[in-house]
Amino acid sequence: MKSIYIHIPFCKKICTYCDFCKFIYNDEWASKYLNALEEEIKTHYENNLIDTLYIGGGTPSALSKTNLEKLFSIIKTIKLEEKYEFTFECNIDDISKELLEILKQNKVNRISVGVQSFNKKKLHFLGRNHNKKQIKEKIKLIKSYGFENINVDLIYALPGETLFSLKKDISNLLKLEVPHISTYSLIIEPGTKLKIDKVKPIDEELDYKMYKTICNKLSKKGYKHYEVSNFAKPGYESKHNLRYWENEEYYGFGLGAHGYINGVRYENTRNLNKYLEKNYKLNELFLSNKENMENEIILGLRKLDGINIKNFNQKYKKDIYQVFKIQEALDKKILILDKDNIKVPENKIYILNEIINFII
Ligand code: SF4
Repeated sequence: MKSIYIHIPFCKKICTYCDFCKFIYNDEWASKYLNALEEEIKTHYENNLIDTLYIGGGTPSALSKTNLEKLFSIIKTIKLEEKYEFTFECNIDDISKELLEILKQNKVNRISVGVQSFNKKKLHFLGRNHNKKQIKEKIKLIKSYGFENINVDLIYALPGETLFSLKKDISNLLKLEVPHISTYSLIIEPGTKLKIDKVKPIDEELDYKMYKTICNKLSKKGYKHYEVSNFAKPGYESKHNLRYWENEEYYGFGLGAHGYINGVRYENTRNLNKYLEKNYKLNELFLSNKENMENEIILGLRKLDGINIKNFNQKYKKDIYQVFKIQEALDKKILILDKDNIKVPENKIYILNEIINFII
C-alpha cells in the first residue's frame, strides 16, 4: 500500500520562523498551480491503491472555495483504500463552517491544526494571527462536524519563554481534548525573519527541560510518546507519518515535495515558475542497499517502538548486527532490546542524532 503527500505552497501571511516552501496566497497563481499539480498527478501517479493521503503546506486551508473544489476534483482521481487516513492541514483563522463542510464532503477524516501556542506574546513573535479564544472555538467547531481525529501543533523553546509559560500552554492544549499532539522546539532556520533579526536560540539545557516537561505532562494524560516529537492517544498515531518513519514508499506531489517511489527518492523543484512550466523534478536519487539500510535506522529509531530486527533482516537480506554497531550500542545502553525490536530508551531520545551517528 502506498501514500501520497500533496503540497499547497500558499499562505495568507508568512510566519517569522518558517523555512517551508511557500508564497503569499494569490487566487490566480493558486489556480495556475492547481492546473500544474493536476498534470503532475496525472503523469506520475500509477493508479495504486492509497491508504494515507496528506494535504500539507503552506496552508491548504488558505485556498478559496473555487480552488478548494478544484483541488478535491483532482484528488477524486486517486484511488483510496477502504480504510484510509486523509489529513488536511488548517490554520485557525481559516476554519469555518463552509470549509469544514467541504472537507467532510470530500472524505477528509483527519485535521491537523497549527495552534503553536495560546500565549499572546508567543503568537505575536511567531507571526500568527489567532488567539486563545479562537483556538477553543475552532477546535469545538471542528468536533461539531464529526471530526474526531485531530492533531494540534505546539511550538516551544522561544527566546524568553519560561518553563512556567510552557506549562500553561500544555495545560491549555490538554483542555482541547484532541487525540494527537505534535511538538516542535523552535529552530532558527537560515532565510527566515528570525534569522535576519539575529534572534538567538534558547539555552540547550532549558530546551531539554522543556522537552522532558512535555513528555511527562502528556504521558500522564494518556498520550503515547510514539515518535521524537509526536504524542497520540491509543490508535491515533499518524498512519501517514509512520510511513515515512518506517521507510516505506510514498508519492510527493507539488512544489518542493519529496517522494520515494519504486526505489527512487526524489525532490521536486521549489521554483514556482519551473513548476508551472511542468518541470517538476529537481533531482532523483537511486539509493544503494547500504543507503536504504541507513535510512531505515535514521528514520526507524525516531519511533519509540524502534525497529523490528526480523523485518529488517528479511527486507534487506542482511543481519542488522553485522551491518551496524547494534551490539556496541546495546552494551553502552544507548539502545535497548525489547523482544524483537531495538529502540532508543525514552530518556535518551533527546540525543537521538548522536546515537545514530554512533551506530551507522
Ligand atoms: S509556518 Fe505554515 S502557515 Fe506559517 S508561513 Fe510557514 S507554511 Fe505558512
